[in-house]
Amino acid sequence: MTVDVGIVGGGPVGLAAAIEARRAGLSVTLIEQRDGTIDKACGEGLMPGALPLLGRLGVDPPGVDLNGVRYRDGARIVDHRFTGLPGRGVRRTTLHRQLAERAEELGVQRLRDRVTSVEQRADRVVAAGIAARWLLGCDGLHSTVARRSGLALPPRRGPRRFGIRRHYALEPWSDLIEVIYAADVEFYVTPVGEREVGVAMLGPMGSRFEQALAAVPSLAERLAGAPVSSSLRGAGPFRSRTRSRTNGRVLLVGDAAGYVDALTGEGLRLGFALARAAVEAIASGQPEDYEDSWRRETRAFRTLTTGLVTWATSPARGLLVPTATRMPALFGAAVDRLAR
Ligand SMILES: Cc1cc2nc3c(=O)[nH]c(=O)nc-3n(C[C@H](O)[C@H](O)[C@H](O)COP(=O)(O)OP(=O)(O)OC[C@H]3O[C@@H](n4cnc5c(N)ncnc54)[C@H](O)[C@@H]3O)c2cc1C
Repeated sequence: MTVDVGIVGGGPVGLAAAIEARRAGLSVTLIEQRDGTIDKACGEGLMPGALPLLGRLGVDPPGVDLNGVRYRDGARIVDHRFTGLPGRGVRRTTLHRQLAERAEELGVQRLRDRVTSVEQRADRVVAAGIAARWLLGCDGLHSTVARRSGLALPPRRGPRRFGIRRHYALEPWSDLIEVIYAADVEFYVTPVGEREVGVAMLGPMGSRFEQALAAVPSLAERLAGAPVSSSLRGAGPFRSRTRSRTNGRVLLVGDAAGYVDALTGEGLRLGFALARAAVEAIASGQPEDYEDSWRRETRAFRTLTTGLVTWATSPARGLLVPTATRMPALFGAAVDRLAR
């Protein structure tokens, strides 16, 4: 039997794509290598634009309103409150559970398997024994589907960054996502529950969470004594490139389509927007439209985030927060652009 859509990867983007496809009346089999509710290293900030995209899927995960972004270093601080609706801090496990339940409700078939090959034929594509008219590669950073479909490119030279996170059981002290620039890493503090705060560290490969935290006394003191409520979990290196987002019957969606950095925290919003675009392209019989949608949806991410990472990894890193402080309107415009 050939299904309409095979999806590789049951993270948030694969699940969103599966729900979109069922809503479009397509049959779906989702292939995920892991069982149960999946946790992942993430800052867990859903940008404001992510919530309507989830809403159209029938998913409204509980969490904590996020009203903007605060940048700070040792001496300076700049806040920007979102001009529209708030975002939301949501534990990945909560988000995953809600998306998985909705997918099941809509009749998404699931297969637990690890995809190692992708075989394209004239009228179908086969992965993990599933034959599908279209295959969506939603398998995250360093996607196997991208590699096996001839779409992956080697990463550009340059600093290799990764992220690692941990949760603390304490009452959030701000309704903003707090980004603290230390010497060579950043900490992202996101409230995700009434008594739970996520702390993600981004920085050069090999950076150590505890050591870096100790070098930021303002944060270390706040967290001191709070029970740790999750184990350290990391992901990276971030940068990954693809030559194109489609090849024959394969479309790449979410992080699998290429990734810049988690520094601006819009991976989920983008991934949900791309899941919708990919399914619309397939359902309308115009899969070639997806490449243009990908370019349009990811433009700000590719330009602003790349620019910011280049700055943050350059000798001028120390000027980043002072500049944002001196130009709050520019800082606010960039935050709003990436959040919507
Ligand atoms: C430290 C950190 C902080 C971040 N902060 C934020 C933030 O605050 N806000 C935000 O929006 N984004 C953030 N991001 C980015 C966000 O986490 C990603 O953009 C998001 O997880 C992408 O979802 P995805 O479904 O594409 O990939 P993933 O979540 O990686 O899911 C991929 C799935 O595919 C499965 N898979 C992989 N290979 C195979 C295979 N061969 N066969 C079968 N299954 C396979 C995996 O098991 C996994 O479940 C952050 C990322 C990091 C690392």
